[in-house]
Amino acid sequence: MSGKVPSFEERVLIVAPTGNDAANAAEVLAKEGMDSRVCSDLPELCQLARSGVGTLLLTQESLTTHSLNHLALLLDEQPPWSDIPVILLASGGEATAPGLNSLRALGSSSTITVLERPLRVVTLVSAIKTGLRARRRQYQVRDLIHQRELIMGELSERAKSLEYSQRELLQAKEKISRHAEELEKTVEERTAKLRETIAQLEAFSYSISHDMRGPLRAMQQYSQILLEECRPGLSSDACHYLDRIARGAQRLDRLIQDVLTYSRVARASMPLVPINLDKLVRDILQQYPSFQPPRANVEVIQPLPVVLGHEASLTQCISNLIANAVKFVPPDRRPTVHVKTGTANGSVQVWFEDNGIGIAPENHQRIFNIFERVNSDAEFEGTGIGLSIVKKTIERMGGEVGVESELGRGSRFWIRLPTPHHEQHNTPR
Ligand code: ADP
Repeated sequence: MSGKVPSFEERVLIVAPTGNDAANAAEVLAKEGMDSRVCSDLPELCQLARSGVGTLLLTQESLTTHSLNHLALLLDEQPPWSDIPVILLASGGEATAPGLNSLRALGSSSTITVLERPLRVVTLVSAIKTGLRARRRQYQVRDLIHQRELIMGELSERAKSLEYSQRELLQAKEKISRHAEELEKTVEERTAKLRETIAQLEAFSYSISHDMRGPLRAMQQYSQILLEECRPGLSSDACHYLDRIARGAQRLDRLIQDVLTYSRVARASMPLVPINLDKLVRDILQQYPSFQPPRANVEVIQPLPVVLGHEASLTQCISNLIANAVKFVPPDRRPTVHVKTGTANGSVQVWFEDNGIGIAPENHQRIFNIFERVNSDAEFEGTGIGLSIVKKTIERMGGEVGVESELGRGSRFWIRLPTPHHEQHNTPR
């Protein structure tokens, strides 16, 4: 609602062409603190009323046919909320008032109050106040309508912009999903190509490694035969060289065997079944003399539970870990290894604790990568593939591998494996 009411909307427009009625009325209204304006005739009044009016005060004498036409025009123009109050000062009774019927016939757009002259001041004042009150309410209705229109306009603008944003959002969504589809397709195609290339490379390296073993074995065996059967005819230098050839070939053969094992682990299918860990570890210990006294003490701390895994692969992993535990020990110390288990997040953790040389923290991660070694071959023989086989295998069985160690203080390698009742959560890779 507008804070300040324009004064024209409170103004009383008066037409009384004869006598003192106009002047008297204006004087009375002024005394009552009401704004008024005396017009010379009805056409002028109509003109002023178009800028806003509180009430019309007319005398019967002002209603000529010509002036009534102006009034009819003014009333016709009024919007639905407007019903201009008209006070008509008549004389000689309502029925005989000429022009009154014509005034009434102008339509329902005005409320006409007829006051008989002579009239008391109080009657006039009260009639005008009633008219102004009614008119004030009409202007309030106008303001409300105007406000409603503004709000509706704003709402419709917002609805339009919302609709626009929604359309834009939808288009963006469609674009994104189209991009995602294309991307997915590209990734799929490239992954398939990559897989194919990797498979070809693996097959290639497997066959090369495999084929290399034949000539290597020949080198090994012929140098051995030479050493055994022709030693008397050979110089000590020749024997030394032959011995180096045999050992080199043997080392290369071991390396090839490890590479083949690694690539088998990466390629072979690995169905998981429940495995009795206790039996599996005992079988391994029996199989290798280097894991038994007097060469080493390997103690299994009961109980070792049933785990989910691939038996041949798990045997390979545990053999590798125990072999390392007894290998990386100072020469003057008898290797002592403890194998024990604990539970971790519903899976089984198997620990391999040794009394060996230990590993500095900065090497804990890298030793699980293929060909990574901390120690030289002269110190401890090896190929640097054992732990990478363990990692690859355990991960393919849905498990994890890690180490806790400090240099000079032994190592605690661990593997984490799913248990049979966790089968559904651990799909092999
Ligand atoms: P390899 O035993 O043939 O050297 P691995 O992959 O089995 O290869 O081990 C990688 C390296 O990790 C080893 O060369 C050694 O430096 C370190 N390592 C592995 N196990 C142990 C251990 N139990 N104690 C100390 N060092 C170890």
